[in-house]
Formats: sequence, structure tokens, C-alpha cells
Amino acid sequence: MKTILVLHTGGTISMSEDQTTGKVSPNSENPLNKRGHLFDNVANMIVEDFFHLPSPHMTPDKMLLLKNRIQQAIVANEADGIVITHGTDTLEETAYFLDLTLKTTIPIVVTGAMRSINEVGSDGLYNFQSAIWVALSQEAKEKGVLVVMNDEIHTARYVTKTHTSNVATFQTPTFGPIGLISKNKVLFFQKLIEEEVYSIETVSKTIFLLKVYAGMDGTLFDAINQPTTDGLVIEALGAGNLPPATLSALNRLIANHIPVVLVSRSFNGIAQDVYDYKGGGKQLKEAGVIFATGLSGPKARIKLQVVLSQDTLPRSLEEYF
Ligand code: ASP
Repeated sequence: MKTILVLHTGGTISMSEDQTTGKVSPNSENPLNKRGHLFDNVANMIVEDFFHLPSPHMTPDKMLLLKNRIQQAIVANEADGIVITHGTDTLEETAYFLDLTLKTTIPIVVTGAMRSINEVGSDGLYNFQSAIWVALSQEAKEKGVLVVMNDEIHTARYVTKTHTSNVATFQTPTFGPIGLISKNKVLFFQKLIEEEVYSIETVSKTIFLLKVYAGMDGTLFDAINQPTTDGLVIEALGAGNLPPATLSALNRLIANHIPVVLVSRSFNGIAQDVYDYKGGGKQLKEAGVIFATGLSGPKARIKLQVVLSQDTLPRSLEEYF
């Protein structure tokens, strides 16, 4: 029988609803642990309550601790697959952080829930079971870190939470899921082009994320133009354009050698340097802005943080994106 290492980190999947007030809050004991016996005939389960956090409390330092624990398990050959339960609010960031930092051939699957364990129609146990099936699947190997929710298998690189409460919240805009769970069958129908894995020991970089809007000026750009700032990700308009009133402040950031990475604030599609007008993508690229193809703002921010956290940067930053 295969062995699955389960690392619980918290989130709604480990919370309960107060049936009188409707408030959802953490339990002293993870309720999933009481259901562990359900998988006795499926796998040897090693279960650790690694964190017990609502996922808005997740930080890059904690992601690094989680990554180190998983790396230790991989090196020691502790398991055939790893399942991580996580709050859904920042799940996509932790999953991508792990994807960028873990060299592995065994399946690593992240899951969560939109409804706490005692709500009617709770998706926690179901998603947990699906994640275990995927982690046991031969085909899930060498696919990077996967996110399994609501019968779908997504890549950590492109998946995002799209709805505040619907159980079908996790989607992969533009590219779609790479597999699905149909009853008890795990089926893959796409493979992602491989991405590099970066070896890091610390994550101490200060990277900001700004969303652009019509009529924006340089105030926020100037506010983050500090000696302590290591990078900025901009969620720009459309294909990758900025309002002209932001430009002088943006140029001051670039002049101070603060890397500026650009993605689109549009939900679908990719950022490209298409437009040649004041604030248009062509001119931004010429000014030194780096276009991150296909990533969302939070994902580009994680990538910039990981890439800059390496001991050395053998290539130009642009080549990493
Ligand atoms: N606020 C919760 C969290 O991210 C949401 C969830 O887990 O679904 O911890």
C-alpha cells in the first residue's frame, strides 16, 4: 500500500460553523483527523498538523517552513505522495511558492474547502478525499504542485480563487484545468510546460503589488520607492498599459534599480507589449519594465520574491519571466 503524508495548515477545511450565529472559526482539533480512518484501506496515512492558520495569516516565511518540511519528506523517502490542506484565500500563493521551490517527482497536492466541516454540503472531506486519490495516482507524478478542488485538477502556476463562496471557485483562466476527478477516477488531459525550480534558504525580499486604475497617478509608486523595496509587480490595464500620470514616478523607481514586473489586471489572457503610445506596453518595456507572461499579480509577486531570494542571479531578471 502507498504512503501519503498529509500536512494540515488550517483554513475553512479545518473549521466549524457555529450553528446559531453562523460564525466560522478554527477548532482546537482538526475535524479531518476524526475521519482519517476512512482512508485506512486506501493508503498508509502519516498526518501532521503543521500549522493551524486561517490562510490570510500565511506568510512567505511560513511557506518556506512548509517547503522545508516537504523537502525533508522527499529526501527521506517518507511518502509516495503529499497532500497539503490550506485555507483557500491564499492557497494559490502557497501552492505556487511550493511549485517554484520543490524539485520532486512524487505528487504534491494542495486542497481546501469553501464550506466548513459541519455546514450542509460541506466540500472539505470530499476535496480531501479527491486530493488523496490524485496524490496516489501514477499520472500525477512530475506535474509540479497541483491544486485539487471541486472535482478538478489545476496547476499551481495558473489556478486562482474566482468566487468568495461558491464551491467551484478555483479556476484556471485562459488555460483551463489539466485534469479531473470523475467519481473515483483521476484523469489527466493536459501537461504543463515545465518551469524551473529555484533553490532558496530564505525569503526576505520586500515586493509590492499595485493594481492600476483609470486616472491613477504616481502617488503609490512614489510611496513604495524606498531603499528597503526590492521589487514591484504592477497589475496593469488590458494588454499591459499604464495611465500617463504614473510614468514619471515609475521611471524614478526604475532609476533606483527597483525591478518592476508587469502583468495584466484582466482575468483572462496574457500581458504583451503591444501599444506604442504614452504609457503603452511598448514604451514601458523600452523603459525597463519586465512583462510576466500568463501569471496573475499575486503569482508574479511570489515568483519575483523566489527568484530574488536565490544566492546568485546568473541571468538577467527578465529571462526568468
Ligand atoms: N478564510 C478562509 C481561509 O483562507 C477561507 C477558506 O479556507 O476557504 O483560511
